[in-house]
Amino acid sequence: MKKTVKESGTLAVFHQMKKLRSMGKDIINLCVGEPDIPPSQDIERAACQSIQSRQIRYTPSEGIPELREAVSAVMQHEGWETDGNRNIIITAGAKPALFTALLTLAKKTDEVLIPVPYYPSYFPMIRYAGAKPVYVPGNPEKGYKTGPEELQPYLTTNSRFFILNSPVNPTGSVYSPEELRGLLSFLKKNCILCILDDVYRHFIYDNTVKEEVSRILKPFHQSIILVRSFSKEFAMTGWRIGYTVAEDEYILPMKIVQGHMIGNAQTASQFAALKALQDPEKYALPLDVFVSRRNEVLQALSHVENLSFIHPAGAFYVFADIRSIYPGISDEVLSSHLMEKFGVAVTPGSAFGLKGFIRISYADGSRLHDGLQRLVTGLSSR
Ligand code: PLP
Repeated sequence: MKKTVKESGTLAVFHQMKKLRSMGKDIINLCVGEPDIPPSQDIERAACQSIQSRQIRYTPSEGIPELREAVSAVMQHEGWETDGNRNIIITAGAKPALFTALLTLAKKTDEVLIPVPYYPSYFPMIRYAGAKPVYVPGNPEKGYKTGPEELQPYLTTNSRFFILNSPVNPTGSVYSPEELRGLLSFLKKNCILCILDDVYRHFIYDNTVKEEVSRILKPFHQSIILVRSFSKEFAMTGWRIGYTVAEDEYILPMKIVQGHMIGNAQTASQFAALKALQDPEKYALPLDVFVSRRNEVLQALSHVENLSFIHPAGAFYVFADIRSIYPGISDEVLSSHLMEKFGVAVTPGSAFGLKGFIRISYADGSRLHDGLQRLVTGLSSR
């Protein structure tokens, strides 16, 4: 093997949960970032229709023109000057989009800045792309977000990319419009491209912030590689479908790399995604459901003495600080203990590069109430 790579910490917990379940143990899932709500039947029908009508052959590597046009219309609505032929690639979800961007654009000497805590796949992707990951500790005072002050000490002449994820997995933090403007201005001034991992864009719970974000991004479009996915917003995780939007100088080589790597994103999923974009408001997951799930989690956690958490303004995670209730016990040990003893699966903060925390996911609300009861009992039973 050329390079060794560790399994993602989030997947490791998921596999442990599956293993215990296969042994007959009842484990409630508060770990996986996958909505339990199915996609709309219209979306499912569009995929079936594409198979039944045999529109299921290879497509152009950048995706079917109708879908690229639909994405372009979405982007133009948000103020981007996109051309469906030059600025958009349909990808097999956000992961391959991020990986392709790094593989195509990052050179050996390039440094890619990632705020901590981070999505676990960034580090191996950067390493496999041959570039150098540079961790930038997020500021605890700002919900572990990163701004110019945090970034400045880590800049070198090789700093070339910054991966921004907002709302953030694992914290649920959302960069405010002012924070975004400050950060993007700083990156632009330092000629650093921003890879914007926008998979949770739909899950910003404050509508005014959500609307402002598009306006703030406008002067920075040329220095952003935007990655989006249908996985979370339209509950299409297994369908493997997303897209990348950027200047043509970046998109054209990425299109060639994607052509060699996967050929094209799954054809039926492309037709299904086209359906989703015909009426995104109708087909996107209902936000009020997630707001009430979040409130239920916060309400339950308020019963655990000394437990603090980062205020979650988006995504579907709560990142709780366990250091004062369990000093000296690692988040990994505690997560295993909660799973084995109390039957509830959460993800240790170490999986995201921040020890002393656990991530509670409310993406799956099917047994949220019981899961929270188990969690509160487990955390309170010192
Ligand atoms: N980026 C972040 C921050 C995520 O949390 C996830 C999935 O959990 C992804 C990317 C991958 O999304 P996709 O399913 O579209 O590959």
